[in-house]
Amino acid sequence: MRSARTIFFGSLVMMAVLFGIGANRCASIDEVVISRAETTEKVVAVTIDDGPHDKATPHMLDALRETGIKATFFILGKSAEEYPSLVRQAIADGHEIATHGYSHRNMARMSRAECEEEWEKAERILAELGAQARLFRPPGGAYGEALVKGAKERGYHVILWDVDTRDWQVPSADTIAERILSDVRAGSIILLHDGQYPIHSADALRKVASRLKAEGYSFVTVSEMLGISGGAE
Ligand SMILES: [Zn+2]
Repeated sequence: MRSARTIFFGSLVMMAVLFGIGANRCASIDEVVISRAETTEKVVAVTIDDGPHDKATPHMLDALRETGIKATFFILGKSAEEYPSLVRQAIADGHEIATHGYSHRNMARMSRAECEEEWEKAERILAELGAQARLFRPPGGAYGEALVKGAKERGYHVILWDVDTRDWQVPSADTIAERILSDVRAGSIILLHDGQYPIHSADALRKVASRLKAEGYSFVTVSEMLGISGGAE
């Protein structure tokens, strides 16, 4: 899907300002931080952060199976350690495995050595489960120049999102679905979570899947959308 490979930077200046990054340093960061694919093809990527969780993840995997959606899971290393079978199930179901670090502490405030430790621990756990992540999403979406540089040097693509459902605040499935339908467009990266319970993201996905498919959208993993090779293999 080479036509979808170009990267969209529009909302990143705003993100950079939100996280207090000086304008003079934006350019170097924006080159490697991705919040959606710039494409007119009606493809969207569902991304799911903070799991696995013993209750939320099975619900999410069921919804993905029912809707035929292949998603990208940004796995938390410490949770994968706790619930390895759920990561194995996600891999067996054909989803993409990406990394969200190990502890979910704010990596934008960590030293390079601490960041490397986060990546290393998460990588070791995922490797034991047969997955190698190529995509990294910083905890809380917080990043600065040093974190992005470190991630890139470690071989990661830094992935954010452009459709923020705020599902972790536990709104109803209808509200989450409305937020997706109002904000989604070609090349969107939708942010959902499976790191807490109760949460209504799985039901929201059931509500939007057929509607978006009827509108001509197809669901792909982030790597597929961006033409990046690798992931869970
Ligand atoms: Zn998170």
